[in-house]
Amino acid sequence: MKFLDMLNNSATKVQDDNRVNSRLLQMASKAVPEDVLMNGALIKDLEAVAKDIALLHGVIMRTKDAPNSSEVVSYAPFTLFPSPVPRVLFHQAVAVQMHFNRLVDKISQDSAFLHEALASTIKVDDFTARLFSIYRHVLQEGRSQSIVLGLNRSDYMLDWGADGNTTLKQIEINTIAASFGGLSSRTPDVHRHILKVAGRLEEQKLILDNNPAAGFAKALATAWRLYGSARAVVMFLVEDVQMNIYDHRYVENELWNRNIPVIRRRFEDVYKTALLDQDKRLFIDGREVAIVYFRNGYMPQNYNEQSWEARLMMERSLAVKCPDISTHLAGTKKVQQELVRPGVLEKFFPDDPEAVTQIRATFAGLYTLDVGEEGDNTVAMALANPDRFVLKPQREGGGNNIYGADICQVLTGVKGSSERMAYILMDKVQPQPVYNYLLRRGCPLKLSTCLSELGIFGVYVRQGTDMLLNECAGHLLRTKSAEHSDGGVAAGVAVLDNPLLV
Ligand code: ADP
Ligand code: MG
Ligand code: MG
Repeated sequence: MKFLDMLNNSATKVQDDNRVNSRLLQMASKAVPEDVLMNGALIKDLEAVAKDIALLHGVIMRTKDAPNSSEVVSYAPFTLFPSPVPRVLFHQAVAVQMHFNRLVDKISQDSAFLHEALASTIKVDDFTARLFSIYRHVLQEGRSQSIVLGLNRSDYMLDWGADGNTTLKQIEINTIAASFGGLSSRTPDVHRHILKVAGRLEEQKLILDNNPAAGFAKALATAWRLYGSARAVVMFLVEDVQMNIYDHRYVENELWNRNIPVIRRRFEDVYKTALLDQDKRLFIDGREVAIVYFRNGYMPQNYNEQSWEARLMMERSLAVKCPDISTHLAGTKKVQQELVRPGVLEKFFPDDPEAVTQIRATFAGLYTLDVGEEGDNTVAMALANPDRFVLKPQREGGGNNIYGADICQVLTGVKGSSERMAYILMDKVQPQPVYNYLLRRGCPLKLSTCLSELGIFGVYVRQGTDMLLNECAGHLLRTKSAEHSDGGVAAGVAVLDNPLLV
């Protein structure tokens, strides 16, 4: 099949929107030169080189068959080529990150705002309600720790407007267990090598260095020193199934390099063996815990009754929590929707209109589904044009959102009832598709029409009222085949990528 026919066919499969076809043709060839993209022998060579170089650089994961064993490992899924990202939009996302760090931190300290923003959600969403009851408990008892450590990732897609302009739109901000800071520290060298072998020497320069693992470790180390006990450990609170352990290990090793001891424990271990002393210091197996770094605990499936008890114990403790329960709640989709309301950002940044402008510029349309006239209008708007929106429950980890005809089904099902308050509605961001090959263990290589999502890592440390560290710590590009509406790398949909700045 001719290259252009192939693009045409593939484009129509993805979207029937007419404007896509003609412009897709221009764009696709911009991403990867046609002679490279369609040179079967070269692609086969590059595939073999790519897998080996990923392994050599440690872009690795355990396998599904043995997720808790390091006896067999494979490459983490990634794109054969880096994907183009406009330089200006990349820098816009980096520039706004410190403001987002401050915003999340301010929200976490504003209990009136959190109560009001989440009041409707917690009536109908059990998971958020459970988190909120821990928050209430901690508020009533009084916070024991004044050190706050945030490691987050703000995610964006580049919206390709009908006017031809591309704009940066935030998808969400992850304040708990933001992942791939480790592996994305190693992917730039993989893509640079592939470009070299593909004869695209000059383009190597367009791939930036990246080291979120070091940025995370710097913030963890800062908080650990403030905690002030040389023997106290950083505890990674980890999942039962640990396929993505190497992503953690990169951060862990950066800490060991600073002689900061790290242990890994599950909720079950905490429940069974942890205790608080009379000063609420957290001990596990006789070791004092300076920081609990949650890499688990972001979805209902992570919890049973014992895990909830363990979470409460950790939240009540003197250990620094990353995130603490209020920062976890600040990252909910309901809070994101409330931030779009006129005047809300101004309230958080009364003296900083520049921060307000920069943050607001990244907002897509977000709409409440609370019971009442405003929510009724949202329902009517969604039913009239479901393909323009995404319906989101208060969940993390990918694969939970609702699209297209399913939006009508769900919203018709819940009608005017309070059940609909578990969701928010968001404008669907429509990026420009790009062609690439996705490498995933056990899957044959095929040319895919792809969409990318850019994540920016942010880190901060506050003690009392002093913001001691506030930085952008690096980036992550994830790319998925456009046939999937939803889902991250862990969900098996997206793969790791690098921005090729254009
Ligand atoms: P999660 O916390 O589960 O990652 P997200 O809000 O990031 O939830 O949504 C999951 C995925 O769904 C995203 O990675 C993206 O691919 C897609 N998605 C989410 N919101 C939008 C949107 N507004 N427009 C287009 N795609 C979206
Ligand atoms: Mg998320
Ligand atoms: Mg996400």
